[in-house]
Amino acid sequence: MNIHEYQAKELFSKYGIAVPAGKAAQSADDFESALNSINGDVVVVKSQIHAGGRGKGTFTSGFKGGVKVLPRTEAIEVAGKMLGNTLVTHQTGPEGREVKTVYFTEASDIQKEYYLAILLDRASSRPVIIASTEGGVDIETVAEESPEKIIRVIIDPATGIMPFHKRLIAFGLGFSDKNQLKQLDKLLSGLYKMFWETDASMVEINPLITTPAGDILALDAKVNFDSNALFRHPEIVALRDLGEEDPKEVKASDTGLSYIALDGNIACLVNGAGLAMATMDIIKHFGGNPANFLDVGGGANADQVTEAFKIILSDPNVKGILVNIFGGIMSCKTIADGIIEAAKNVEINVPLVVRLEGNSVAEGKQALSDSGLALTPADSLSDAAQKIVKLVAEAN
Ligand code: ADP
Ligand code: MG
Repeated sequence: MNIHEYQAKELFSKYGIAVPAGKAAQSADDFESALNSINGDVVVVKSQIHAGGRGKGTFTSGFKGGVKVLPRTEAIEVAGKMLGNTLVTHQTGPEGREVKTVYFTEASDIQKEYYLAILLDRASSRPVIIASTEGGVDIETVAEESPEKIIRVIIDPATGIMPFHKRLIAFGLGFSDKNQLKQLDKLLSGLYKMFWETDASMVEINPLITTPAGDILALDAKVNFDSNALFRHPEIVALRDLGEEDPKEVKASDTGLSYIALDGNIACLVNGAGLAMATMDIIKHFGGNPANFLDVGGGANADQVTEAFKIILSDPNVKGILVNIFGGIMSCKTIADGIIEAAKNVEINVPLVVRLEGNSVAEGKQALSDSGLALTPADSLSDAAQKIVKLVAEAN
């Protein structure tokens, strides 16, 4: 789960990480009071969307820049050009994202921009601190073009962040001033503590800056949380902005389904994540493209299956559906009932291939054939995949 920059900075403040003062506004009526709460003749107006690259982004209106450093007198007018408009950045895709919140923040004098992040290193299964003197730019580009400029320090979760870790980062970034070393020490401890306590999968500051006065500040903030740990963080769930998420995915998670929308046109309805992955692989293998990952789970009921069909069919890209169920805990009859129920509620107007195997498979198949539903039964996984790929190709 992602949160906005302004929310991430509130968390930063709680963990003692220095950020410029700022205030968010969701409506134009609140611009003035938000602006009045910060100081300076120069201020920064920042579009809040769950995507990076805002500074270099362009609005579909033609207005350039989702982050603007400008005289205080121009802030409200520029905020008006952001709010309610669609910002396109290299991370949003061409459709862009509508800006529903604008953040007013104090402008900092930048001496140098750095990059700092903590994330989970999958290779070592440990938190890793990534730092670079090349901040304010795309870190992926730095990693490709000058990998030697990226510092990686792996932390043993049993000890947490230790003084030597912090020294490696500080000297790697070229800090030597005593006051700055102290600030960086505090910042790294706070950031690690936040990463750990909130079950974050990533905390990223790009740029982290030094000012001519010698201060170290986080000018941007991106935080990602492990969704599997959200049950123990109601205060973080409260920060969730459903407007930034795919409505189909929101609906699915409300129903207890694991659903991720993809780019293809063959929808999959499967039980179990492993089987869902295998189903997507085999669709690809036979030349098709999956429209989604949808795992109804091991113990889905007919209502959830109905809901799954509704979610799938609300995606205009879907040109065919492959149901692939291995009845273990769940009986194939339940799935069959769900499909029949769904067909009563929503019109299934695309080819449907159903492959059932396992627990109560005979009852399931019988129920489907008794229902008179127009569907293509399949026996094996490869048979099913070939059939749906062929049907979709013929229909389009
Ligand atoms: P994004 O990464 O989405 O483009 P940032 O918050 O990193 O957004 O802002 C882009 C650039 O704008 C930063 O690299 C920095 O140079 C400048 N900037 C952002 N916030 C401030 C600020 N408070 N004071 C001065 N410059 C800022
Ligand atoms: Mg940034």
